[in-house]
Amino acid sequence: MRRWSRASNPAADTGWIGAPSRKGFFTDSSVCIGCKACEVACKEWNRIPEDGLEMLGMSYDNTGALGASTWRHVAFIEQPRRPIARDGLTPLPMVAATSGQNAVAEAATGIRWLMSSDVCKHCTHAACLDVCPTGALMRTEFGTVVVQDDICNGCGYCIPACPFGVIDRRQGPPGERNIGIAQKCTLCYDRLVDGMTPACAHACPTQSIQFGDLDELRVRAQRRVEDLHGAGVDDARLYGADPDDGIGGAGAFFLLLDEPEVYGLPPDPVVTTRDLPGMWRTAVLAGVTLMAGAAAAFVRSRS
Ligand code: SF4
Ligand code: SF4
Ligand code: SF4
Repeated sequence: MRRWSRASNPAADTGWIGAPSRKGFFTDSSVCIGCKACEVACKEWNRIPEDGLEMLGMSYDNTGALGASTWRHVAFIEQPRRPIARDGLTPLPMVAATSGQNAVAEAATGIRWLMSSDVCKHCTHAACLDVCPTGALMRTEFGTVVVQDDICNGCGYCIPACPFGVIDRRQGPPGERNIGIAQKCTLCYDRLVDGMTPACAHACPTQSIQFGDLDELRVRAQRRVEDLHGAGVDDARLYGADPDDGIGGAGAFFLLLDEPEVYGLPPDPVVTTRDLPGMWRTAVLAGVTLMAGAAAAFVRSRS
């Protein structure tokens, strides 16, 4: 599979002059306690309407998935308790407020909970942005991807283009804000321009959501994985942190404690517009060949 070239700052590639260092998220699911403060803070700051408070039969998850009115989604995954790891350490999904708390909970219930706060990945190569015909989706000076509500015409091209199923058109009664408009996390662009931390990261009590310079976050995340491996949590791995992956690396990446599929994430995402240039070249070549054939037939019929 073709790999993309590294792009340390897609803002500069887009034409921003003097762009600041790329900003992003490192979401460390090993310390997420599932409190959903991030979901609530996002809704409050961005004035996102309520979109259902149903019991879904998916543990304590009552939002289900990311969507036009859920820009952070905390997944709850219940699994049978894992065998004791090497050195007698328990491969716990999180670092609890008091050490040993999780081990007690796991021993009592026979299950472990994986919790992870999902969000738009702010891809280095963002297909949503590539296909938007109006320019409503834009790359900011921070390297993030933002929808401009007043420019989006609701065509929905971006929705199937996203390899993560993040972006969607908002549904709801007429009169509600931005109905019919494509919506997703803005990485709190309005806060970043004022030098503030995104609302979800600000609200997270365990620093599961860490905001900052992407290069620095990647180093910190790698160190965290090594620490977890050293503590016997062998399944810890990074997702979206590799600048050589199919989307050129995510601006919002994760530390997971199991396979990405367990969290509902694609294992090897690829920017869906990757093959478009080649397809256009083939289409143009086919058109030229057809026209040449028609011209030759015309000439032959006249002679
Ligand atoms: S995750 Fe989807 S919506 Fe977010 S930047 Fe990437 S392609 Fe666009
Ligand atoms: S960065 Fe802002 S818009 Fe994005 S999920 Fe966090 S609070 Fe919501
Ligand atoms: S606020 Fe932090 S700890 Fe709470 S659910 Fe969100 S990511 Fe997890």
